[in-house]
Amino acid sequence: MPTAVLPLGTLSDAHGRVARDLRVSLTDRCNLRCTYCMPAEGLPWLPGRDILTDEEVARLVGVAVHLLGVRKVRFTGGEPLLRPGLAGIVAAATGLRTDEGVPPETSLTTNGIGLDRRAASLAGAGLGRVNVSLDSLDRTRYAALARRDRLDDVLGGLAAADAAGLHPVKVNTVVMRGANEQDVVPLARFCIEHGYRLRFIEQMPLGPEHGWDRSTMVPAAEILDALRTAFTLTPIDGRGAAPAQEWRVAAAPGHPAGRIGVIASVTAPFCGDCDRTRLTADGQLRTCLFSRTETDLRTPLRDGADDVELARLWLGAHRAKAAGHGIDSPGFRPPARTMSSIGG
Ligand code: SAM
Ligand code: SF4
Repeated sequence: MPTAVLPLGTLSDAHGRVARDLRVSLTDRCNLRCTYCMPAEGLPWLPGRDILTDEEVARLVGVAVHLLGVRKVRFTGGEPLLRPGLAGIVAAATGLRTDEGVPPETSLTTNGIGLDRRAASLAGAGLGRVNVSLDSLDRTRYAALARRDRLDDVLGGLAAADAAGLHPVKVNTVVMRGANEQDVVPLARFCIEHGYRLRFIEQMPLGPEHGWDRSTMVPAAEILDALRTAFTLTPIDGRGAAPAQEWRVAAAPGHPAGRIGVIASVTAPFCGDCDRTRLTADGQLRTCLFSRTETDLRTPLRDGADDVELARLWLGAHRAKAAGHGIDSPGFRPPARTMSSIGG
């Protein structure tokens, strides 16, 4: 029976927060080109030699879990299903033990393409659950937003994740004015009927350069107004560090009860409760999605630093974590990297 490992410290900062949730980007590449995330031609991809190997990812996740008190690990990208060694990386993570003596909770944020073939093996590797991105159930609108006609693949991926027991299956939807506002209610109905937990996300200034404009972002209040035309919503208390404010949907003729979340990163930032730390595919540590600085872990890792040295670098970066993302402050400048390169 594995025993708990005593951490070197926890990832605490000057604002009283402790990061327990690690987001690991496994690649900056993607097989879609969602308009809010990437330009149609793609981005200059990271060179292969800069990308952490599977062993390097596993080592850094081990440092975070064993030495720094991390308890949740979410794999993301780019599109993490494009990473051939994904199942092995998941298995390495679930073989770790947190400071509470249990495996870390693992999850995967994916666009769902190819998940139909891989859900069972990922569940077998110990993956806990998935978040699948789906912005429309209308084939034409899906293809316009993702710039690829892949709706059927995503729906197949969702069904396979459900069948493989990757529960709760969560669905992420970014709502954009003039693009998919009419999909809010149909997506909610679809997810409630299938037992998936839908979370609507406000569009953030992390897409292709100059691609964000507050007027195209549909704020949480408007999403909730649309939902209330079709459902009876009651807020669920006890959100903790979770980014989504969740709502219980009352059962009604035609649909069962369910729950829906809204992530209002722009209009109601939750930075004060943030418990996240992030590792990019090229081994850069970020304390926030919106950080304009990174801490290089890849170079010391490749130069022979031991786990304690890497952990100390991580601790130092978190002590300086900013209080908030500052989207609303006059001098706000988005980070140089887009969401797909940071890891959403
Ligand atoms: N490719 C995977 C996917 O789409 O789920 C994982 C990476 S993607 C960057 C992670 C999440 O970020 C997705 O749910 C996506 O919708 C969201 N996202 C991307 N760009 C965004 C933006 N500018 N604002 C808000 N959410 C965004
Ligand atoms: Fe790819 Fe995900 Fe970005 Fe869409 S949101 S382009 S699926 S990384």
